[in-house]
Amino acid sequence: MVSTADAVVVGGGTVGAWCAYFLRADGLARVVLLEKDTLGQGASSRAAGIVRTQGGTPWAVRLGEWSRQFYLRQADELGIDSGFTPHGYVLPCFTDADLAAARERMAMQQGLGIDVRWLSPEETDELNPALAPGLTLGATYCPDDGYLHPPRNVIAYSVALATTGVQVRERTRFTGLITADDGAVTGVTTSAGPISAPLVVLTGGPELAEVGRLAGVRVPAGAVLHQVAVTEPHPDLAPARLPMLFDVAAGLYWRPEEGGMLFGMSNPDEPPGEARRVDEPYLARMRERLAELVPVTAGLGLRRTWAATIDYTPDHLPIIGPAMINGQDRKGAVVASAGGHGMMWGPAVARAAADVALTGSSPVVDVSQIGLGRFDEAGRSALATDPIALPFPQDAATPA
Ligand SMILES: Cc1cc2nc3c(=O)[nH]c(=O)nc-3n(C[C@H](O)[C@H](O)[C@H](O)COP(=O)(O)OP(=O)(O)OC[C@H]3O[C@@H](n4cnc5c(N)ncnc54)[C@H](O)[C@@H]3O)c2cc1C
Repeated sequence: MVSTADAVVVGGGTVGAWCAYFLRADGLARVVLLEKDTLGQGASSRAAGIVRTQGGTPWAVRLGEWSRQFYLRQADELGIDSGFTPHGYVLPCFTDADLAAARERMAMQQGLGIDVRWLSPEETDELNPALAPGLTLGATYCPDDGYLHPPRNVIAYSVALATTGVQVRERTRFTGLITADDGAVTGVTTSAGPISAPLVVLTGGPELAEVGRLAGVRVPAGAVLHQVAVTEPHPDLAPARLPMLFDVAAGLYWRPEEGGMLFGMSNPDEPPGEARRVDEPYLARMRERLAELVPVTAGLGLRRTWAATIDYTPDHLPIIGPAMINGQDRKGAVVASAGGHGMMWGPAVARAAADVALTGSSPVVDVSQIGLGRFDEAGRSALATDPIALPFPQDAATPA
């Protein structure tokens, strides 16, 4: 175990691993990545892989677009990629309120350079031959949105870490920060001994609140059940007939997978906590909604279902900023969370966290409002909630 590093990153998921890679690529000689288990054993290997630039806030759009561009250039930069497939994403409108919100959102996204278009109800049906016709009032559509293969993303960042010489320490748990008298970070304690370092980036996905607690930093990030299923193959669900689609109000989305459909869902009434099992009654309810939208799915068997713990933040926005104790920045320590959007935002959150650690700000996104300072003592955010998100709980555990 090294005892001195230029930077230590906690957490070997997509946020921590890409952050360690970026810090090393920026020229830091000794970057250590601490992972209490093995790389990718958190949410990052279990995700559905949706990559969407059609965010509900400028932060979401910028983070999505930066990440999408990163996925597109990975093969050239790294010799391996995360399996990103541009496929096109439809966000349908079912009510007049959906319509008004979609038009406003689309103008914001177009203003940020995203190729998002309006589809009439007829165009929506034409693009989605598997969708029951006549259901929507139209939709927004971005042909550049797509999906990646989450286990391949773990392989891609593992290769990037190894080839650039990041010192990966698996089965090594972060247990706390070491600080100087003025509060500045001078290192970390771990299950394998202390490491001196002037920079520490704290990630942890669904376990970020606990990582924060170990660091003495209150992080209002939560964890909740999210589940995904894959249908058996069917010719009507061939990829060319099945753009990705997000029914935001139902918290239901899908994309093609192995000749069938992968669909994911979050129950708005799910209490926060670790996912333990597939919620069969909720899966059955979502299958009913899915069958209304895509009738062919009604008769299909499922070849896979899984339940996993997803990370979230109370306002569905990322956290990128200095660690804070009693309202004061903890010099040298940065907190990073993709707030349950780590496939679509992860690399950009990682890049921005590396930037903040090195320089205090980031060209990727304006981080001045999306740090811990936006939360009050109860973990409530001063920012409006991003409307394009799964129905995650609105509050998160805020350990002392
Ligand atoms: C079922 C499911 C589907 C999803 N689908 C999508 C999707 O389609 N699109 C999308 O954008 N996002 C999706 N997500 C969310 C996405 O997977 C997460 O936002 C992302 O993986 C979080 O990355 P992370 O690196 O922050 O956390 P993780 O991947 O959870 O990594 C955190 C790591 O920190 C480690 N750790 C924790 N405590 C310590 C400690 N004390 N010391 C050392 N290491 C520690 C953990 O072991 C873990 O490996 C999905 C999530 C789930 C569960």
